[in-house]
Amino acid sequence: MATTRDEHSYAQPDKVRISDLALDLAVDFDRKQLSGTATYTLEWLDPQATQLVLDTRDLTITKVEGANREGQWTPLRYALAARDPILGSKLTIQVPERDTSVRVAYTTSPEASGLQWLEPAMTQGKQQPFMFSQSEAIHARSWVPLQDTPGVRFTYKAHVTAPANAMVLMSADNDPAAARDGDYSFTMPQPIPSYLLAIAAGDLVFEPISRRSGVWAEPAMVHKAASEFADTEKMIDVAEKLYGPYRWGRYDLLVLPPSFPFGGMENPRLTFATPTVIVGDKSLVSLVAHELAHSWSGNLVTNASWKNIWLNEGFTTYVQARITEALYGNELAEMERQIDQEELAREIKSGEIAPADQVLALPALAGRDPDEVLSDIAYTKGAWFLQFLEQRFGRDTFDPFLRGWFDSHAFKSATSDEFVDYLQANLLAKHPDMVTPAELDAWLHQPGIPAFAHRAQSRNFGIVDAARIAWSAEGKLPPASITTPWSTQEWTHFLDGLPETLPVERMGALDAAYHFSGTPNGELAQRWYPLAVRSGYHAGDDAMAAFLQVVGRRKLIMPTYEALVKTPEGLQFARDVFEKARPGYHPITTASVAALLAKAAPVASAASAADAPPAVSSTVPAPAAPATGGAPAP
Ligand SMILES: [Zn+2]
Repeated sequence: MATTRDEHSYAQPDKVRISDLALDLAVDFDRKQLSGTATYTLEWLDPQATQLVLDTRDLTITKVEGANREGQWTPLRYALAARDPILGSKLTIQVPERDTSVRVAYTTSPEASGLQWLEPAMTQGKQQPFMFSQSEAIHARSWVPLQDTPGVRFTYKAHVTAPANAMVLMSADNDPAAARDGDYSFTMPQPIPSYLLAIAAGDLVFEPISRRSGVWAEPAMVHKAASEFADTEKMIDVAEKLYGPYRWGRYDLLVLPPSFPFGGMENPRLTFATPTVIVGDKSLVSLVAHELAHSWSGNLVTNASWKNIWLNEGFTTYVQARITEALYGNELAEMERQIDQEELAREIKSGEIAPADQVLALPALAGRDPDEVLSDIAYTKGAWFLQFLEQRFGRDTFDPFLRGWFDSHAFKSATSDEFVDYLQANLLAKHPDMVTPAELDAWLHQPGIPAFAHRAQSRNFGIVDAARIAWSAEGKLPPASITTPWSTQEWTHFLDGLPETLPVERMGALDAAYHFSGTPNGELAQRWYPLAVRSGYHAGDDAMAAFLQVVGRRKLIMPTYEALVKTPEGLQFARDVFEKARPGYHPITTASVAALLAKAAPVASAASAADAPPAVSSTVPAPAAPATGGAPAP
């Protein structure tokens, strides 16, 4: 059990701990609110303790009660502290009788940071509104008062009412055959940390993939999604062979509207996924491998606080590659590794990630938003470290070691130090002289990527490089016989290797040949549009604006906004697009774009019109827009 202090929670779990949560909530689309009660089962650990401290953000608390031994509810005194911009408001409840049941009645704010409320026009079907949560890292407190720290786990039950035409799902035992009647009940029997609490409501239907797996989506999307994700059961099989049984019952996917700010979120039993990975050829289903991998790394063995997040994301990125390799071959896994590693190298070189944030074992993050600190270091450097260990010790040794880590820490939270102790005792001490202390230190405590790390080198990318060089030198586009078999990864590498800017005629020739402007593939769009902006190529401006208005996944749209704000005209274009897109963006995406535009404001006032819309307040906190797009998946 992790006892280290979590600087992102007011809770005092060493004194009293929530072991079970019972929610009774009503979904009100008109008011954009959830309201109801949260009832906690408490374990009092400190014999002197008589206070329950919870995390909240922008909640209206209407009543707090405790139940005595006879089950009679009586009001408890409580105080809601002033709002901290990062942590929210501390809720202190006086529980003089140390009741084992406490109940809080509350209502969420329409601006809750962990919920997005979408008008019907922003859905695919355009008939019904949609609502979904995103609790990681510290947004669960904006829709449930909680000990909102990954160091505390609890089981939960929920009763949720909604308009009769809305299907409600949670990170729990969703029933594929549930009647859509506006009255739903859920149970999550495995203890989970608060950031895995999740809810969604809308016009959602189900299509099975296998006995224990399937897809929930809007009716127009569900079949396409089920086809794209058809290999999910095979992925579960691969992961089970490597790391032991899948312990969560069903594994379903929920496809959200394109405004979802991330690639995916590993909500247990029900991964939330962006529709932007559904490109028709399964080339981006590594996202499913990633979210599924979290069923071991993250959901089963959880980072004890957010500074330890590489234990979630680095391990998951490593496991994801193992699943991808087993199903689709090492070449695809290697292409994805090379893309990630080169991306991280660019971010380190450009100064996008401060040296202090380039270490895996991060120091305390007090005063910083965990969403802001997260970068590709946790994902790519974390996975790279495990790959280094795998290469040194061999799979015959490393695979059982990693499975042992998951088994021995199942349903627990862990710190970096605990993993390093485990590594020392169970791998390094048993095979001495394989890894030096200096090598270990380089991975865990030094910035950058160790010089001795093995760089991924895809064979297929050699062909792509040759084609690009031939085009750069002679202006000869690679023939269809070369490019037709290219997958998303090869096109990604082709675009990644182009110069910072290209002459407009060359941009036009590329666009005419390969139709990058207007591509439905967000991985290509997020590379092509910034290149177009930097190159002054405007033929695709309308398609670019449409892309920025439809998609809200941060990883895909931030590079284009970042390129746009570098010139006064681009900044104006970005502002106009943001103005139109904003009602459809998630609060997390809105905050990222607003912060970027605010930072760019002086350029505009120096260079351009007085009638520009007022700059967004510079007091907006500046959440990073890491290329990975925040805590959940790439
Ligand atoms: Zn992840």
